[in-house]
Amino acid sequence: MITVVEAIQIVLQHSPKLEFESVPLSDALASTLAEDIVADTDLPPFDRAQMDGYAVRAADVASTPARLRIVGESAAGAGWHNEMKTGEAVRIMTGAPVPAGADAVQQVELTREVNGAGSVEILESVEAGRSIVRQAQEIKRGETVLRAGDDINAATIATLASFGYAQVKVGRRPRVAVMATGSELVDVDQKPARDQIRDSNNYTIEAYARLAGATVERLPLAGDDTEELKKQMAAALERCNVLITSGGVSMGVYDFTKAALKELGAEIFFERVALRPGKPSVFGRIGKTLVFGLPGNPVSVAVTFNLFARAALRAMQGSTKPTLAEETAVLARTVKGSAERESYLPAILHTDEKGTLWAEPLKWGGSSDFVAFARATALIIVPQGVKMLDANSRVKTVRLPGL
Ligand code: AMP
Ligand code: MG
Repeated sequence: MITVVEAIQIVLQHSPKLEFESVPLSDALASTLAEDIVADTDLPPFDRAQMDGYAVRAADVASTPARLRIVGESAAGAGWHNEMKTGEAVRIMTGAPVPAGADAVQQVELTREVNGAGSVEILESVEAGRSIVRQAQEIKRGETVLRAGDDINAATIATLASFGYAQVKVGRRPRVAVMATGSELVDVDQKPARDQIRDSNNYTIEAYARLAGATVERLPLAGDDTEELKKQMAAALERCNVLITSGGVSMGVYDFTKAALKELGAEIFFERVALRPGKPSVFGRIGKTLVFGLPGNPVSVAVTFNLFARAALRAMQGSTKPTLAEETAVLARTVKGSAERESYLPAILHTDEKGTLWAEPLKWGGSSDFVAFARATALIIVPQGVKMLDANSRVKTVRLPGL
């Protein structure tokens, strides 16, 4: 059996970067940048007021109250473009340009308009520079702010928008086909009859694959029959970059996924990983299409997808960080490991008031317990051969992708 690290390496070796494409900004979420993002303006583009209030000269309000003549108004989008002189003030709004001659903004709460708004009393002094963000203080025009290979998340969007990237070059989204296998499965809109259960894996894989930037086609449910599996797989291979199946990879007499893959001529790169849950994970390739044969249990699917298939999907888009980032946390309760396998155990992460990151293992009933898993935000990694990790020991964790 190979280790998880080796398996991920093998996945990355066989996940070639797809070509890039130019997409509208609003379609770029969860993609990976295929170009550097360069600021086409200073930020802020002008000296900007940070508060609603009055633009003043700090020297004019050194002793307070100080009465100043209001000579104009600077609003966001409509500045006051004259020279403000000593003894004068300009009413100013958050986001508006600070007029020449002013060197501070006093917030409106510390002022009082007098004489039917002809002048203003500044009730507290301000030091020069207060409540002004200087032009280019945040970013200078021409600076590279994001790089090709960076992943685009919701926090990135403002940067792209602000520098005018109405179209953005990204790695093309891999096309994924998902196929749940198992004669016990019915679709979610069906009432399971005797001995049946609803398929959840197709939806889980679809959700995580979309978070990883892929587009997803759900194939019809496939029964445990090698010919049926082959037929469906063969049809899907034409259309997708990555085929992801679930179920049928263990040692049961009705586990036919590997047989179907092999009969279709798949090169198998691995079919057992020292991983708990997820030992029977399969990775291979048919023609140019990558194939992941994930185990059937829903929690195993979530773990193995995010360790292996996600890495492939991110790498195909050109991500420089295709794998889940590891963090160190302190274990809140004792957990058990395994002699032969590395364990990835569902957990909740939280940071206490001292800034310590805690990993709290979830109580769960094993790899079929998707209801308990629904609370997980991370996985605790227990190294292979470690039988037990005590509370308060330091552990490696990875965060589960999610919203
Ligand atoms: P298998 O790997 O095919 O032996 O499946 C292991 C377990 O996962 C069995 O209890 C299956 O019923 C369950 N399972 C397999 N596929 C799915 C699926 N698509 N949705 C929910 N549970 C599944
Ligand atoms: Mg099965």
